[in-house]
Amino acid sequence: MDKKQIEQLESWDRKSVWHAFTQMQTYKPFIIREADGCYLTDIHGKRYLDAESSLWCNVHGHRHPELDQAIREQLDRVAHVTLLGMSCDTTVQLAQRLATLTPGSLNHVFFSSDGACANEVAMKMAYQYWRHIEPTSQKHKFLCFDAAYHGDTIGTVSVGGVDRFNAIFAPLLLETIKGPIPDTYRLPPNVASENAAAHYLAITEQLLQKHHEEIAACIMEPLVQCAAGIVTHPPGFLRGIERLCRKYNILLIADEIAVGFGRTGTLFACEQEGIEPDFLCLGKGLTAGYLPMSATLTQERIWNSFLGSDADNNAFFHGHTYGGSPLAAAVALRNLDLFDQHSVLPRVNEAGKYLRECLAPLEQHPHVGDIRHRGLIFGIELVQERGSRQRFAWQDRIGTRVCQKATEKGVWLRPLEDTVVIMPPLVISDEQLEFTAKALIESVDEVIHDHGLG
Ligand code: PLP
Repeated sequence: MDKKQIEQLESWDRKSVWHAFTQMQTYKPFIIREADGCYLTDIHGKRYLDAESSLWCNVHGHRHPELDQAIREQLDRVAHVTLLGMSCDTTVQLAQRLATLTPGSLNHVFFSSDGACANEVAMKMAYQYWRHIEPTSQKHKFLCFDAAYHGDTIGTVSVGGVDRFNAIFAPLLLETIKGPIPDTYRLPPNVASENAAAHYLAITEQLLQKHHEEIAACIMEPLVQCAAGIVTHPPGFLRGIERLCRKYNILLIADEIAVGFGRTGTLFACEQEGIEPDFLCLGKGLTAGYLPMSATLTQERIWNSFLGSDADNNAFFHGHTYGGSPLAAAVALRNLDLFDQHSVLPRVNEAGKYLRECLAPLEQHPHVGDIRHRGLIFGIELVQERGSRQRFAWQDRIGTRVCQKATEKGVWLRPLEDTVVIMPPLVISDEQLEFTAKALIESVDEVIHDHGLG
């Protein structure tokens, strides 16, 4: 690509593309032209290690020959079939496979295109379910957790807890009941880490005692609240929430959009605490990071409540044009084959341990407050002062500056405020993990030094 073409593209990118979660006035074009394995290459020909797995969705690397082939084979048959009253053989096979793989009797699969839609579907189904069971039901609210992120539709923003994103939309949002963020790094005073789960569960139970009759469902991200800054939950919290939902007759929606498909070391995060939600929402890694597809799985009793004659008018009146796309289903099926063929899950746990070792020089760093991880989901929180856990002023943009430096060094990283996220493709090699850690360690030192602290 010559200089003129590059300049033209960069100018169009600044003017014509409205980038997600981006201040366009200060946006600097970063245009990728191709990718292979764990690497991205930009229009200047510079290569970057993709340490964010294309925003938490790539699983087996980019341009995997078998995944590419699965899409080509499907293209030779049919690219699109609607799920409104008809079906495609590939999509049927995927539904069946997901029903078999997911915990317990989550046997009914509703397909959408994005994670937010999968959650919104679960919320609507939960609301409608209670009306089928009891037409005068008062259950119309959702229990959610502070700093949660479930997507950007109005319904999912309502159950989200990131004020910086959501405050402006407050007048449009549904009424919710908000539980505490089950944080293990910033514990409330007088709460020890071994008592953290019990503490957060007790607060949640108080809310349920008061509000359970008006709550249709509880929605949560199992084990790790990723967008909140890779907030890892105390062990036992997920199981405790399931128990409370059963006790207070509330449905449980597990949003595994980010943590599903192996990121935490098991195919689904719910497996780690042996729980079976009423709804399991999947997206991102479902198609190995290839095509937009998400799924809402639910149980027999929910499904049964939607059955009836046409006159009953109790079907689920919701659907997306590309829901269940055969191309996406084809690549999702091959994604699952690759999990089986290449022992991906045991490798995730090994790789997680190895990356932790590579990050050892940051463990006692005066400006690294916490390194937390589950499987291959890492958050490295940078702080002004380690002892008091005091944050940097947001205007200092320390997290952003560290990630920019790492990107200059050839590792694409993104922060969540001052928490640097590492969430690479699950097949990343030891050598690539070492390279990622080295770039991050150097970047932290350089930025801290430039900031006048090192
Ligand atoms: N839920 C969780 C936990 C997520 O992390 C995300 C996206 O990051 C979503 C939902 C929304 O998914 P999508 O961006 O595909 O709508």
